[in-house]
Amino acid sequence: MQQRQIFVLFFIALFTSFVFSSTGEVIILDYHTFIGNGQSSMDFTKEELIQQLDQFEKQGFRFVSLDDAVQGKITGKKNLVFIIDDGNHSVPAIVNEVLLPRGIVPTLFLSAALTERSKFCFKPEVVKSLREKGCIIGAHGYTHQYVSKKAFESEPARSREEIEKPGPIIARWTGSMPTYFAYPFGKTSPEAKALLAKAGYSYAFVADDQVRSVRFDDPNLDHYEVPRTIMYRWSVKKVMAELAKLDGALAQR
Ligand SMILES: [Zn+2]
Repeated sequence: MQQRQIFVLFFIALFTSFVFSSTGEVIILDYHTFIGNGQSSMDFTKEELIQQLDQFEKQGFRFVSLDDAVQGKITGKKNLVFIIDDGNHSVPAIVNEVLLPRGIVPTLFLSAALTERSKFCFKPEVVKSLREKGCIIGAHGYTHQYVSKKAFESEPARSREEIEKPGPIIARWTGSMPTYFAYPFGKTSPEAKALLAKAGYSYAFVADDQVRSVRFDDPNLDHYEVPRTIMYRWSVKKVMAELAKLDGALAQR
């Protein structure tokens, strides 16, 4: 009898440790524009995006917000985070008509000076309204220049501005300092990381075409070099195949 109780306790302990140690993982997808004129390898039509979202769902993935992922409010491994860089004028309609109605909370990374001045971008008052609808707003440089090691060597003052200037400007629009930074062109440097930490950013994001799972509670995760997967027209099939593979790998566990 006593031995049986010990067994029961042992399995309860095993089960609880399993449940509490299995924290959630995410794959962070990085979109850009939805103009639909076929001129950019990072542009999708609304219909193409909807097809992709349906496909992710069919593969059993769900979208979580970046905040929830960072705060560990997610479980399992089939989580995706939806990110849009550059603040293009085609983005608000996609957010309002496609993403928010599906319960997808996107993070929008904006270059502050371009948002103020460029016709390519939606305006600061739109940033405010998207923030009020729940979108997460992050910084993506000041005028979208490199902050690589080479950039800091050739133009130190300008590179510094890319990191220091956008935060306070975005805070004027949204009411709070952004805590996430996405490197323009996806490339980081030790100089950029040090300045971002000093400016109070909690995480900064690089980007390439690889699919990688991120665990925000991983002690080995570099907070200033979190990977994201850029969605290219040519890479959609590849990303879907990688996710399907991940699906298979998970099923075997
Ligand atoms: Zn960009």
